[in-house]
Amino acid sequence: MILMEEKNNLVLKVTETLSKDVGHGIARLDPQSMKALEVGTGDIIEIEGGKKGIAKVMPIQSDLRGMSIIQIDGYTRESSGVTIGENVTVKKIECAKAKKVNLLKINSKYTDTNEDEGTYIGRLIEGLALLKGNKIRANLMGSLFYEFMVESTDPEGAVIINRDTKLKIINSKEQGNFNLRVTYEDIGGLGNEILKIREMIEWPLKHPYLFEKLGIDAPKGVLLHGAPGTGKTLIAKAIANETDSYFVSINGPEIINKYYGESEAKLREIFDKAVKNAPSIIFIDEIDAIAPKREETKGDVEKRVVAQLLTLMDGIRDRGRVMVIGATNIPNSLDPALRRPGRFDREIQIGIPDAKGRMDILNIHTRGMPLGSDVDIKKLSELTGGFVGADLNALCREAAMITVRDAFQGQELSNENQLNEIIFHLNIPMQNFMRALTQ
Ligand code: ADP
Repeated sequence: MILMEEKNNLVLKVTETLSKDVGHGIARLDPQSMKALEVGTGDIIEIEGGKKGIAKVMPIQSDLRGMSIIQIDGYTRESSGVTIGENVTVKKIECAKAKKVNLLKINSKYTDTNEDEGTYIGRLIEGLALLKGNKIRANLMGSLFYEFMVESTDPEGAVIINRDTKLKIINSKEQGNFNLRVTYEDIGGLGNEILKIREMIEWPLKHPYLFEKLGIDAPKGVLLHGAPGTGKTLIAKAIANETDSYFVSINGPEIINKYYGESEAKLREIFDKAVKNAPSIIFIDEIDAIAPKREETKGDVEKRVVAQLLTLMDGIRDRGRVMVIGATNIPNSLDPALRRPGRFDREIQIGIPDAKGRMDILNIHTRGMPLGSDVDIKKLSELTGGFVGADLNALCREAAMITVRDAFQGQELSNENQLNEIIFHLNIPMQNFMRALTQ
């Protein structure tokens, strides 16, 4: 039975939605409800619980038909002020094209801004309907995503993100708590390494007193060495996330080049911040650029920077609560002083994944993707000998891109509904992974 409140208003019961919908601002409705509301797939509805949220209409899961149910994700539930099992009032609304939207990156501890970020994020959330004050999500590959608060929209009211929307991403330094929600489950094929790392980093960060009590020196620095793209950065982020630590990342060459003339001051600033915000993780990528063997360095800059880094590491008083993770591909080129006790005195080799590892990684990166039924991940893992995580990630993205390119080829899109229909029905067949492999 359909309960009509007033003309074109409908009361529906909220239930959870498909995991693939999360972040896409979709409300799944029964054909009967769609008819009563006079909406079709792709139309925008207002969902009123304790608050007002909006979402784009899609068809409901077939086994939920005929029950006056609306399927919405946690974000839309939050903006509509409801939880699962509660009722909402739904009606069709008009939604303007967004000219400008300012998004505040939430949970952000990263302070690096990238000018292309607006365009990039815009592509990820194209088609999303939103209101000022909403919390939204931009899905990256697999299980990675960014979260934002909609700070303002132009025009005001309900708007939809389109290709021409100018997005401004505000990276709030003060916000705290950033975690790109990289968890250990997002890292494939490094089970043993992760166990070791947890012991070395997570325990001292979480239980510094344990180490003190036992009279053991908690490690201050851990060196991860391995080829580029094997997951060293990913590991550092996952640890920061899992330990709820402040995370700051620096890149060796950047410290030397970008901050030329102020490299030591920059390092001091980073360490100061880390100490203030402890527990913290300082991640120094390509540390070999900062700290090459001193006798081999030509410039004075590097020598001074190494000396500064050593002083800073020796000076971390808050034992265990500030951890420095260095990453390098060439550990033997490092200044040996850095590898002495109390500095980077633990090392972990991050290897190139074997077939089992590649399978784990492929499973992670295809997690959010609509895969064709013929996709054989095991076979792909056998065909990708020598690939590291970053290569496997690129392979999955490319297979997805090929599928999108094929789908849009020769299509004359007259409206947005059609676009949504196409995207919604995309499936990535095995063949496209094979094509991506040979490119
Ligand atoms: P590194 O720091 O070793 O150069 P990254 O951690 O930056 O490599 O990896 C780059 C990207 O490649 C990651 O963001 C992730 O998408 C993918 N990747 C690399 N290693 C793995 C892995 N072991 N499991 C899952 N994804 C991985």
